[in-house]
Amino acid sequence: MVTTRAAVIRDNGAEFTFEDVTLASPGFGEVLVRNLATGVCHSDIVAQHGMVFSPRIFGHEGAGVVEEVGPGVTTLKPGDKVIMGFNSCGLCGNCLSGKPFACDSFLPLNMLCQRLDGAETIHDSAGKAIAGNFFGQSSFAQHSVANVRNIVKLPEDTPETVHKLLGPFGCGLSTGAGTVINALKVRPAESLVVFGAGGVGLAGVMAALASGATTVVVVDLNNERLALATTLGATHVFNGQDADLVEKVRGATGGGAHYAMDTTGNMSVVRTSHDVLRIGGTTAMVGLSAPGKAVEFEHMAILDGRNVIGVVEGHAVPQVFIPQLIELHRAGKFPFEKFVVEYPFDQLNQAIADSQSGKSIKPIVVF
Ligand SMILES: [Zn+2]
Ligand SMILES: [Zn+2]
Repeated sequence: MVTTRAAVIRDNGAEFTFEDVTLASPGFGEVLVRNLATGVCHSDIVAQHGMVFSPRIFGHEGAGVVEEVGPGVTTLKPGDKVIMGFNSCGLCGNCLSGKPFACDSFLPLNMLCQRLDGAETIHDSAGKAIAGNFFGQSSFAQHSVANVRNIVKLPEDTPETVHKLLGPFGCGLSTGAGTVINALKVRPAESLVVFGAGGVGLAGVMAALASGATTVVVVDLNNERLALATTLGATHVFNGQDADLVEKVRGATGGGAHYAMDTTGNMSVVRTSHDVLRIGGTTAMVGLSAPGKAVEFEHMAILDGRNVIGVVEGHAVPQVFIPQLIELHRAGKFPFEKFVVEYPFDQLNQAIADSQSGKSIKPIVVF
């Protein structure tokens, strides 16, 4: 057991409050991680405002150092530098087929804050249980109990200044990059249109360029973000309010794009992402929306071979894909630091406010 400082949500939509909580010792296949920093992801904010059966601890882009390993852990030891991604069971058909992002237990293990055996990990100072294990980590806390299945070990020579920024490789950045590399499989000289220049979208831009795409178009409502996309290498940028948007994007991509990705979760944007495709092109729906939303596609546009796919967590196997992203970063092809903003942990509420207002593209809170 360890006592640690955590940001707790006690009511649906409330701000985070800071409390000392008690963490259980790591169980079979689990490790205790001391967090250096954790990213703030859109899903944390969605969960804060709509999925709370209070109280809970969110946070799912943790970067830290292993402090203690539970029974049965042979691949990690105290002192290992790690980041944490999404959790999976490792036993269902999809996990065994190399698709942990489609794990049968994805919902309970990641969104519903449960351990596989249902045991609680966190208690408050009054001894009452707090739901932890959000994405197998609940990293809005100085320590996390995580599972070997959602931990990725970093190279030993990773400097701390880089290590603390890598948490978003566990979700947001691998979602964007994985959509391009694993799901759409963008190839040299092809074209990609990214809707939404947040962290996920910009990761998609960098991954497309690293894959050899020669036309990378970015659409957003914020001109500052469009300028940033240009500095990252986007070849064309358009404001989403442009009345001739579809025509202009189709023109920039030589009559329609090979691929598009929507990171906004806005149904009219999803439809536009399909309208800009060439025949045989594919759009990936990545952005989270409220449940119950529907999108209409033109019947003929599907019949002529244009595709729509849904992508979760960049269709990544974290222990395979994240090291690939780290290599791209080392080679200078994934300069995500350009849009990371650091905040002290006690400024988490401000970091979330700045993320929602568009002021910070990718906030990271540092312990
Ligand atoms: Zn599974
Ligand atoms: Zn996330």
